[in-house]
Amino acid sequence: MGLLDGKNALVFGVANDHSIAWGIARALHEHGARVGLSSVESLLEKRVRPLAASIGSTFVEPCDVRDDDAVRAVFDRWGAEVGGLDILVHALAFANRDDLDGAFVETSRAGFALALDVSAYSLVALAREARPHLRPGASIVTLTYYGAEKVVAHYNVMGVAKAALEACVRYLAVDLGPAGVRVNAISAGPVRTLAAQGIAGFRTMYGSFRDVAPLRSNITIEDVAGTAVWLASDLARQVTGEVVHVDGGFNVLGVPTPEG
Ligand code: NAD
Repeated sequence: MGLLDGKNALVFGVANDHSIAWGIARALHEHGARVGLSSVESLLEKRVRPLAASIGSTFVEPCDVRDDDAVRAVFDRWGAEVGGLDILVHALAFANRDDLDGAFVETSRAGFALALDVSAYSLVALAREARPHLRPGASIVTLTYYGAEKVVAHYNVMGVAKAALEACVRYLAVDLGPAGVRVNAISAGPVRTLAAQGIAGFRTMYGSFRDVAPLRSNITIEDVAGTAVWLASDLARQVTGEVVHVDGGFNVLGVPTPEG
């Protein structure tokens, strides 16, 4: 018996086999869920389809989350091909590279709007279009980062977008709770992915993380996926509106030093 037997999952945000979304998709599959994937069109044939095939998934749909029609089209197809939805994973974000370096005060209006649109509003758009398909007990999971809570060098506008995303989680949890739908975020410690490479100073921060995090190791996509499986499962049936840290305890430190 798998923990997620009989559940249908749709995962947004696979770019390659290093993506957090991919770690989660694979783990959901291993625990018994039927998994569909959505990603930006340019990545679909070369990157996403082969990964989908490796977990027996045939539902692979393009979607730029800035486009409401594209979002709707994914869920229309899901409804026609699969039907009910029990697990929705939102593991995507974007900001201009220029806005992930230098001073936050220099963030342009357009850069701010773009980061907030792709990284925060998209959760609202996905939740809204998913709604007709979500079954009681369904779980929505998104990915956030500590830069939402405290200032992290270079994270800049993405920290503001993640703060908005975490607020969206709480508002959506209240909206969708009466229908039995839960909404939570995982705040992951630094993971080496394509998106992370766009953040100035990431390599240095990644390198020193394991020296100061209480559990003294870096975070893997499997670590994040384990918590996603739990949140997706009925074991977390009374958990909603939460931000769960998967960061080896880093966020509890006042002044992060190797002495603790
Ligand atoms: P990734 O590069 O593998 O994934 C980012 C995804 O966002 C890609 O698949 C990309 O195609 C997608 N995306 C960007 N713009 C999009 C758009 N307009 N429409 C649809 N998709 C779009 O990197 P990742 O680190 O796995 O990122 C997944 C999530 O995890 C992000 O929300 C990220 O902020 C979050 N996160 C990452 C870390 C980390 O250290 N890597 C830590 C905490 C949280």
